[in-house]
Amino acid sequence: MDGGRTVKGLQRMSRIPDRMKALVKTKAGPGLELTEVPTPEAGPSEALIRVRAAGICGTDVHIEEWNDWARGRIKPPLVTGHEFVGEIAALGRDVRHVRVGDRVSGEGHITCGHCQFCRTGQGHICQDVKIIGVDRDGCFAEYLVMPADNLWPVPDRIPDTLAAVFDPLGNAMHTVMVAPVSGRSVAIIGAGAIGLFAIAIARAAGASGVIAIEPNPFRRRLAAKVRADMVLDPTRDDVPALVGRETEGLGPQVVLEMSGHPDAIRLAFRLVRNGGDVALLGIPPGEVALDWARDVIFKGITIHAVNGRRMYDTWYQCQNFLLRDRLAVRPVITHVLPFENFRRGFELLHAGRAGKVVLAMSPGAAGRKRS
Ligand SMILES: [Zn+2]
Ligand SMILES: [Zn+2]
Repeated sequence: MDGGRTVKGLQRMSRIPDRMKALVKTKAGPGLELTEVPTPEAGPSEALIRVRAAGICGTDVHIEEWNDWARGRIKPPLVTGHEFVGEIAALGRDVRHVRVGDRVSGEGHITCGHCQFCRTGQGHICQDVKIIGVDRDGCFAEYLVMPADNLWPVPDRIPDTLAAVFDPLGNAMHTVMVAPVSGRSVAIIGAGAIGLFAIAIARAAGASGVIAIEPNPFRRRLAAKVRADMVLDPTRDDVPALVGRETEGLGPQVVLEMSGHPDAIRLAFRLVRNGGDVALLGIPPGEVALDWARDVIFKGITIHAVNGRRMYDTWYQCQNFLLRDRLAVRPVITHVLPFENFRRGFELLHAGRAGKVVLAMSPGAAGRKRS
């Protein structure tokens, strides 16, 4: 018997199964479970997306290991994951601007649409945002439902492995773009996937030099592969001295802090040149003490706090960057694993032996006929 549904008035692919595989936080505590759950249904303004590939984020690792942040935010049961590419399998009756079969990524921050921030083009700081894979079911599954307005149709020339990571690429793009980098020296602290993307973007945006600072040797090698001009190990190198030598004794004009480590945040302010810019994306575990007088006030610097992606300026910037320079970020995707091997992906990230890990859905696994 075909378990697929047909619903009048909805545009949909044939053979959508009633149940699907999904990576679920089933209960409050460590771990994730690969299990079967009901396939979600698209509401009138939503889309059902058949997932083709999904990126594992540091956020997913926190949800898996159940850290303090996850404990306070996640309400199990929850289908995890927020970075994806897929194709539209069904559309609600009110959706007109995309079609069944379109290949799409999507902005995982679902904004309320009517707060002061949403109404003034600042949806990235919406006060009532819901994030897929965090506050509502996400994309580590054969199918995902989200508002069709959040979808981003992907040009054919961008492969699935890169289309799946528009979200973290967008974090990097947003961070690089908050202050001018063209013709200026840039230091990037933390070379996880987002820091690595930022190195390539800062180069493409015309930085006069890009210095990467990262304690993990695997990631330092990746930083060199995405062509940082100088790669430093803060656990062994005299970072202020070496960065000073590289920047006319003045320090970098722009520092991007991607790690959230308290020492790294202090280092960012220590290094930045008088009158320079510090952009903060990494999220520290708690309060961080700074020498505000010496490193901030007397330097006359500007601090930029970065949250999410600008909707949808950042997405256009990412797409244009990938169409022109996608080879520059290829080294960041270190592993493409079958969805069923998710454990290996989480282990690699735990061990710091990966850039970005992408989980690929086996073709034909979703949308198969059930008997
Ligand atoms: Zn993410
Ligand atoms: Zn809002």
